[in-house]
Amino acid sequence: LSSKLDKAFQSLKGEARITEVNIAETVREIRRALLDADVNYEVARQFTNDVKEQVLGSDVLTSVNPGQQFTKIVHDNLVETFGGEKADIAQAQTPPTVILIAGLQGSGKTTFTGKLARHLKQEHKRNPLLAAADVYRPAAVDQLKTLASSIDVPVYSIEQKDAVRVAKEAVSMAKSLALDTVIIDTAGRLHVDEEMMNEVAEIKEAVNPHEILFVVDSMTGQDAVNTAKEFNERIDYDGVVLTKLDGDTRGGAALSIKTVVNKPIKFVSTGEKLDALSPFYPDRMAQRILGMGDVVSFVEKAQKEFDEKEAEKLQKKIKSDKFDLNDFLEQIQKIKKMGDFGDLVNMIPGASKALDTADIDDDAFKPIEAIILSMTPEERQNPELLNGSRRRRIAKGSGTTVREINQLMKQFDQMKKMMKTMSKMSKAGRALQGLK
Ligand code: GDP
Ligand code: MG
Repeated sequence: LSSKLDKAFQSLKGEARITEVNIAETVREIRRALLDADVNYEVARQFTNDVKEQVLGSDVLTSVNPGQQFTKIVHDNLVETFGGEKADIAQAQTPPTVILIAGLQGSGKTTFTGKLARHLKQEHKRNPLLAAADVYRPAAVDQLKTLASSIDVPVYSIEQKDAVRVAKEAVSMAKSLALDTVIIDTAGRLHVDEEMMNEVAEIKEAVNPHEILFVVDSMTGQDAVNTAKEFNERIDYDGVVLTKLDGDTRGGAALSIKTVVNKPIKFVSTGEKLDALSPFYPDRMAQRILGMGDVVSFVEKAQKEFDEKEAEKLQKKIKSDKFDLNDFLEQIQKIKKMGDFGDLVNMIPGASKALDTADIDDDAFKPIEAIILSMTPEERQNPELLNGSRRRRIAKGSGTTVREINQLMKQFDQMKKMMKTMSKMSKAGRALQGLK
């Protein structure tokens, strides 16, 4: 019983150890969460393998809450994969800076062209000219013109269906008008095809852009990766724009694309309006991806039960050596109150294996409860009062033996010591909670 109880307390205080054995289970959980967030399967597999190796190689494991520890490692890995800080877009030494926008039809290129123009104008005091190089549909040119007029930015367009020419002439026009930026909106197709790729490649060749941005609809999830890859192989773009990240799009595409093509994600677009644009923040995206999965939910449930204030009170008692048998009893009753103890433990990745939950049931706590309840309140507060005659009285009252009481008192002392050590270590654990 002693070791079982110790384990129970350990895990509930969030100190259960991650072993090589139960890591596999956790890794599976994380992989599932990533897939739920729409991360490409192969990317999710690769990512979780990396995390696994990192976990195995770290020795912090012995002291910190495993769930939070895992979440923290996954979070940090996501941020690192995304490339730490946000990337800016290029600026030409001699203006105009030429920015080429490419992507599939409907991905949000034209909308983004307007958003970027607005952003550069407002935040960077730039004077952009938009080039209407989607020459096939008159509606496309009109759409760009409408957007542009709402932000008071000029558009260059021609009657002929010649995208390369539009791009070239727009650059010359910008030069002669002393406009410092040209943003070229191109045509897309519903799927990657040769004609479209050729056209974008030709524009690239003709105007030698300082920045090529690939626009991708984040709602296309698993597909986004292939498109991103094909575009990259063909036109070697400088950065990615993730659109339609509003609503409940999960953002897994960000991880997939970054992993597969290794180009920085520079902007995210979160709505149809022109102000719905934001630079890409790696940590926000990491949290979005994690928040969608189940990885953190067990932490939340455990926290609900172990209300923080109470935990703090307990911590203080432990530190000042005032943790007594009343507190001990309270903890036991709390464990029982959680009812589905096994259920809770199961939510902690790996913990169920470590704990052998089938063996933990209410019965295990009964003699302990009986013993403590047979003590006077005074005795519970000051266990050192418990001399031989008091122990004999308590044994009778609780239907146990003096030996059992001696054993319990020994356990209680050990637990007090253990809790004191843990309370020192749990500072690190609390530092990790900040990321949720
Ligand atoms: P293009 O074919 O690549 O030029 O795509 P458009 O810019 O015309 O956008 C296609 C559709 O997606 C339009 O209805 C846009 O209003 C919409 N759209 C573009 N970006 C976003 C976004 O970030 N969020 C949402 N909800 N809709 C967007
Ligand atoms: Mg368009």
